[in-house]
Amino acid sequence: MTAKEMYIIGNFKQNPDTLTKSLALAKEYVNLKKINKNIKLGIAAPTPFLNELVKKFGKSLPIYAQNVSSTNDGSHTGETSASMLNSIGIKNTIIGHSERRAVGENNEIIKKQVENALAKKMQIVLCVGEKERHEDTGHIRFVNEQLETALSYVKKTEIKNIVIAYEPVWAIGKDAVRSANENEIYEMTIAIRKKLVEMFSKNIGSAVKIIYGGSVNSKNCMEIMSVHNIDGFLLGRASLDTKEVKKIIEIISK
Ligand code: PEP
Repeated sequence: MTAKEMYIIGNFKQNPDTLTKSLALAKEYVNLKKINKNIKLGIAAPTPFLNELVKKFGKSLPIYAQNVSSTNDGSHTGETSASMLNSIGIKNTIIGHSERRAVGENNEIIKKQVENALAKKMQIVLCVGEKERHEDTGHIRFVNEQLETALSYVKKTEIKNIVIAYEPVWAIGKDAVRSANENEIYEMTIAIRKKLVEMFSKNIGSAVKIIYGGSVNSKNCMEIMSVHNIDGFLLGRASLDTKEVKKIIEIISK
C-alpha cells in the first residue's frame, strides 16, 4: 500500500439534485476512507447542502465549498462569504475552478477569494490551467500568471494551506477528448513548482502539494499518479460514481 499521502477530492459540481442524494453520496465516501488511510479523501458539494453535510460527516470527511466570495459580507446578491462558510464549520474550499473562471472570475477576483479564505484559515484547492496548449510555452506563461496573481498576497507561512490543482481546461468535462498525458502533466508541474519556489523559497515552494484534474478515471489514474510531482486528483465526473472512486483508490493504493 502506498505510504505517500495523497489527495482525492470529488468535485460534485451542480450535483446531485437533492440533499438526500448528496448525504447518501457523502456516506459512501466515508466508507471509502477505510480503504487507505493515507488518502485524504474529500468532497466539494453545492452550497445549499454544505451545512447538513458538515453536521453529519464533517468529523470524518473534509467537506469543501466549491467557491468563496471575493467580497466581504454586504450587498452582493448570490455570493457566499468565507465568514458564512466558517460559521457553519466549512474549513475547505475550491477556488479558481475553470467553470467559475468561465463565468467571469478572473485572476484579480481569485486573488481576493484566496485572501478572504486564508483570513478565515480555510484550506484551499486553487485550480489553475491553460485553455489550450501552445507550440511555444504560452500555456506555461498563462499558468504562471494565474499563480503569480492568485498568490501575490499569500505569506510564506500561509502557502501550506493551499494545494494547487493543475486542471488543463481542454481536458475537463464531457467535451474533453482525453486527459492530459504524463509528459504534459510533468512539464506543467515542473513549471508550477519552479514558480512556487521562486515566490516562496526552495523549501517552502517544494513542499506545496500539486494535484491533477481533468478526465481522471480508473483507466488512466495509475499513469497520472506515476508523474513525480503529482500528489493526488481532483475528480469531476468520476466523483459521482463511487464504484469508480473505489477503483481509483484501490489502483493507486497498490
Ligand atoms: C473538474 O471539473 O474539476 C474535473 C476534473 O472534471 P472531469 O473529471 O469531469 O474532467
